[in-house]
Amino acid sequence: MKHIAILTSGGDAPGMNAAIRAVVRTSIYHKLEISGVYQGYQGLIDDELEPLIARSVANIVQRGGTMLRSARCQAFYEAEGRAKAAETLHARAIDGLVVIGGDGSFRGGHFLGQEHGIPVVGIPGTIDNDIAGTDVTIGFYTAMDIALEAIDRLRDTAASHDRLFLVEVMGRSAGHIALHVGVAGGAEAIMIPEAPMSIASLSTLLTDAEQRGKSSSIIVVAEGAYEGGATALAKAIQDSIGMDMRVTILGHIQRGGSPCTKDRVLASRLGYAAVKALLSGRRDVMVGLRNQEVVHVPLQETWQNSKGINHELVELARVLAI
Ligand code: ADP
Repeated sequence: MKHIAILTSGGDAPGMNAAIRAVVRTSIYHKLEISGVYQGYQGLIDDELEPLIARSVANIVQRGGTMLRSARCQAFYEAEGRAKAAETLHARAIDGLVVIGGDGSFRGGHFLGQEHGIPVVGIPGTIDNDIAGTDVTIGFYTAMDIALEAIDRLRDTAASHDRLFLVEVMGRSAGHIALHVGVAGGAEAIMIPEAPMSIASLSTLLTDAEQRGKSSSIIVVAEGAYEGGATALAKAIQDSIGMDMRVTILGHIQRGGSPCTKDRVLASRLGYAAVKALLSGRRDVMVGLRNQEVVHVPLQETWQNSKGINHELVELARVLAI
């Protein structure tokens, strides 16, 4: 292996830059050429690549987003699009590709590898932490910190005005952020796609809490836990028990900003591990972290298996909300 390329794909996540930096510098340390691909798979199709040197990634370890930009690329879903991308790689004599992204990006990388013999290694980068095979993904810790800070601020107002707040956090199909910040923020209830509550049981929970003397409450809702999100959920609860409540949707604020220490360390470890994996002949794998150790997981397993949530936390949140 002499020349590798790196790209970021799908939704951006804080810590992606730290991973890019680690991949670039580990490659150069091992005397490999390294090229950055702009705009994810679209950049591979359009031949938007640039050679990177150690100084190209100076001053980015603390920055959110991704210096290589990210994009969604419709053409890559088709074999024809992937063939064009492979042409770019072959023309530039690139013998390995590192893909930082979510499970969609890993599917694309897997097919590219299968169809054109290109060694691909994936690095999990998504705030949702919804990738099987790794305990955590790059961006998850930072997103939780941002969401928790917002919840703490809202609690001041909730307590001062005896109010009920519904806070919607990211997570269309996974409730990892909601579950963790719900526990850490002392939420009254947590609504997640993996363990949704009915309007009837949520209403009972809130009226019971009021009777126990709770005058303010926070409910954390993952965006995909209820059709229409927190706004629709608030309306349904209002229709059921007539309780007045405020809705706050945190949205993309959770994706931006400087990555926290844990995300930077995770990203640096996985970036380093991805290059080492390519050098040792591994392909079609994701590098992840399990029980603090770096692991190599076949790309297919990252979307064929489901991560599942920590049910102990669900029970814990219920008990601690009395
Ligand atoms: P994420 O990687 O965060 O899950 P997406 O699902 O949007 O984000 O995927 C990012 C990109 O990866 C897509 O725009 C597409 O180019 C590529 N991709 C996703 N799924 C596939 C697939 N099944 N086959 C080929 N390419 C895919």
